[in-house]
Amino acid sequence: MPPDSAHASEGQQRHTVTGMGCEITVRRLVRAIEQRDQECVEALLAPSVAWDTGAGEGGPETLNRSQLAGFLERLEEHNDQRQVKEVTAIAGSIVVRTEGTISPPGGIRYEGTSFDVYDCDEGLVSRRRVFGYRKDVLDALAVPQDERQGLLVVRDDDDDRLYHFGIARGSAMTWARYADLGTSDHHHCEMCWATFSALHADYQQEGYATLDGRRWLCRDCFDEVKDHFALEGRQAGGV
Ligand SMILES: [Zn+2]
Repeated sequence: MPPDSAHASEGQQRHTVTGMGCEITVRRLVRAIEQRDQECVEALLAPSVAWDTGAGEGGPETLNRSQLAGFLERLEEHNDQRQVKEVTAIAGSIVVRTEGTISPPGGIRYEGTSFDVYDCDEGLVSRRRVFGYRKDVLDALAVPQDERQGLLVVRDDDDDRLYHFGIARGSAMTWARYADLGTSDHHHCEMCWATFSALHADYQQEGYATLDGRRWLCRDCFDEVKDHFALEGRQAGGV
């Protein structure tokens, strides 16, 4: 097979680049964005690219290729200080976790973690979606619950997602109803700030609590940190 045979079917059969091919493209793109290299960014984007902007980037909105031309300038104006912390292939997409701040002039400063999910087509980035939480990424990629173990979990004590975290390593936590174990009218998840309260049905009614009922994690966030902090999960009524 001649080395250029891949081009023989060009225009006849489109294929989707997944896994390592897409990861290399995305890593190049991320580097080009960091370096504000407009030419390199454009060379890595598919003609039909759909690019979601996130909080702080002027989003949420979906940009097409020509609308993206001003994107790097906007990052510069908004003092984008995010850093890439993790690049992972999940279900054919590439997930890039970033941490840091964006400070739009006269706008609201955005600080925190973002998950940028990239898809490729014929070796070029065709789609970018932005999510704030691990659960939303795994839901969007339709990863079944029993295959989520170990994906996008906290690996390092400096992880931005631990901003509010106050649960000691090795703690035992029990699955409980807030009405039974809560020590106030409400608490927040130590990771995602979801509200636990019996006051309204819209709030989380159950979660993992420290045995004194003072610290809470929702189920997804417990899964995210349990291995890193060696948390012991107990079922209700367990010892
Ligand atoms: Zn949570």
